[in-house]
Amino acid sequence: MKKANGNEIIQLFESWAPKKLACMENDPIGLAIGTLNKEVTKVLVTLDVNEEVADEAIEKGCQLIIAHHPPIFRKLSNLRTDTPSGKLYEKLIKNDIAVYAAHTNLDVAEGGVNDLLADALELENREILEKTYSEHLMKLAVFVPVDHAEELRYVLAKAGAGKIGNYDSCSYSTAGTGRFRPLEGANPYIGDVGEIESTEEEKIEVVFPTSMKNRILKAMLNAHPYEEPAYDLYTLAQETNEYGIGRIGTLKETMTLRQFAEYVKERFNVPMVRIVGKENETVSKVAVLGGDGNKYIHIAKRAGADVFVTGDMYFHVAQDAQAIGLNIVDPGHHVEKVMIKGVKEKMTALCDGKLDVEFIESEVNTEPFIFI
Ligand SMILES: [Zn+2]
Repeated sequence: MKKANGNEIIQLFESWAPKKLACMENDPIGLAIGTLNKEVTKVLVTLDVNEEVADEAIEKGCQLIIAHHPPIFRKLSNLRTDTPSGKLYEKLIKNDIAVYAAHTNLDVAEGGVNDLLADALELENREILEKTYSEHLMKLAVFVPVDHAEELRYVLAKAGAGKIGNYDSCSYSTAGTGRFRPLEGANPYIGDVGEIESTEEEKIEVVFPTSMKNRILKAMLNAHPYEEPAYDLYTLAQETNEYGIGRIGTLKETMTLRQFAEYVKERFNVPMVRIVGKENETVSKVAVLGGDGNKYIHIAKRAGADVFVTGDMYFHVAQDAQAIGLNIVDPGHHVEKVMIKGVKEKMTALCDGKLDVEFIESEVNTEPFIFI
């Protein structure tokens, strides 16, 4: 199989969790340390990067680390090697280990951190808690001589246009007459220079997400027989490719808040959780948002959640949750460790048969808290 270059690995990663999905202002995602322009045989997947993780990468022969929490979160004003973080950066660079961070883009991605957390809780009928990204649909209407219509419809569908829900190759055609006069310098497919020509044409209409615009136009222009294809391109009010942060869904069976807290402990393998609410209240609709969900309590309440699972709950936000009648289960920020196995499995599948690279789950426990 093909030897893997760091850029190729990250290209596949970003086909899954593109940077455009990041939903935090100035989220320092992407390549943080080192270079991707090198051969990579082993990638270490971790929640955090600390010195122990760097040692693990060295020991296991990894040339790249994919981390959820960016190792350089705030702007650096110096690069001293006598501070803990400076020492870490020095070690990574001296050992030629690159670090790539996927933070809120990985939270939001389909199958990313939020989905992995919802998977762990086996939430059903799952929806996005808060939409953070979507694209407008575009429509292309192209006028083509009847004898080329079938081929052009095929080419447009193959390029990805005309996908609506669980249907592909969707298009609409109307028959009509095209008129034109080739001018000096033209090399017309039909008709002669200086003569007004009319021909039977078909107007083909297809829709596609805005991000596919260039690909669809290129495919259409390549397949169209005319020197100057006539077409309309416009943005529609409808949106598509919706992504968002947090997930909300229902439990397989209703339980009390107390039972649910035990369930969360077991599912996330944590020694304790903090809860806000009445232990005997029954819960079935669950919202979950990895890491710090303090800003989302009202959104979770409005979405109809009986209980909100999130980490790093502040004292006063917990009081606010209590006041609005929203139950909280806080299993700690470290539950985002579910991304380690999730990213490893997803990337192994994406690279399978394409790139010769191994993904390794970090075994370092980066939870700073000890529960006594
Ligand atoms: Zn986090």
